[in-house]
Amino acid sequence: MSLPRIDIDLRKIAHNVKQLKRLYRTKGIYVTGVTKVIGGNPIIAAVLVKNGIEILADSRLENIIKMRRKGISAQYLLLRTPSLSLAEKVVNHTDISLNTELTVLKELSKYALRNHIVHKIILMVELGDLREGIMPLEMDNIVKEVLELKGLLLIGIGTNLTCFGGIKPDTDKMNELSLITIHLEKKFNIILTIISGGNSANFFWFKTSKNLGRVNNLRIGESIFLGTESLCRSAILGLFGDAFTLVAEVIESKIKPSQPYGVVYQNVNGKIPKFKDDGLMRRAILAIGQQDVAVAGITPRQNVFVLGASSDHIVIDNTKSNLRVGDIVEFDLNYNALLGALNSSYITKNIINFNERESVL
Ligand SMILES: *Cc1c(COP(=O)(O)O)cnc(C)c1O
Repeated sequence: MSLPRIDIDLRKIAHNVKQLKRLYRTKGIYVTGVTKVIGGNPIIAAVLVKNGIEILADSRLENIIKMRRKGISAQYLLLRTPSLSLAEKVVNHTDISLNTELTVLKELSKYALRNHIVHKIILMVELGDLREGIMPLEMDNIVKEVLELKGLLLIGIGTNLTCFGGIKPDTDKMNELSLITIHLEKKFNIILTIISGGNSANFFWFKTSKNLGRVNNLRIGESIFLGTESLCRSAILGLFGDAFTLVAEVIESKIKPSQPYGVVYQNVNGKIPKFKDDGLMRRAILAIGQQDVAVAGITPRQNVFVLGASSDHIVIDNTKSNLRVGDIVEFDLNYNALLGALNSSYITKNIINFNERESVL
């Protein structure tokens, strides 16, 4: 298996999905599986579906089209609110989309009608994080118009927090979403079936709340794949945090000074670097760099320390491990690093614990 590579443990992912699904169901929450971090990888997506996830959500149409073509049978939800220019593709390739703009909704309606499709709509409400969302005071007007658009079916409302502004999905925010739901249902005499309260950052709210109000859906990516919630990035008890392992190879191992010598100018990152002089040290170079992975987001599992990186190299302090040329170093990845690594053509994706009998492919 060529290096660098990322080992993807399907058994661990399956376990995480099952556990999360079971946990969230105890208080009436359905989990929508978010596949953007895995770039819509059909083999991994199949594990989600096999373990009871009914809606797969992705921010990229390309990923959704890929999973569909591979025959992964689920409802597909587009997470990033659709571009006006992509309206026809959105209607043709997805079942549900999150929306905030009337202009876009009208365009979706136009193509849904033209192509004899009913496209489902979840309207996103702004609750303070300041990424996508309709201001609560605008909701009535937009809902009124959406209900008149043919080819569209308004199935719910949702909100997204902890993304741009880092705003916590607490009881106040979730209650507000429930109140808006009740208000809209009454005012327009409709039933909203999906009330989507957020993402992996809603974990503590879920754990500490007795009554979740009308919220009955969460869109979960990070917790499934990394076993963490995303408010404080703490591990969720009972989940695997090591379903993904980045593996890189040592290409140089030498004893060298700990401080660069000569006249110091900018380095490859445009910075004037500072290093402490600790005398001679055992150093090693790995055949992986910024071009392959967001180096700031990876943590070695062995007793080595990342000193720095350029586009194709990572330099490590090898004092404690004494790795030789040809040895490997294993890393954990955070969300950002995983996103980049899984979408990098330079990194081999190595599926492990693949069970043919359990596959839906
Ligand atoms: C990415 C994304 C999610 C999933 O977030 P996780 O933290 O990975 O659970 C949910 N909703 C929206 C709108 C997203 O863009």
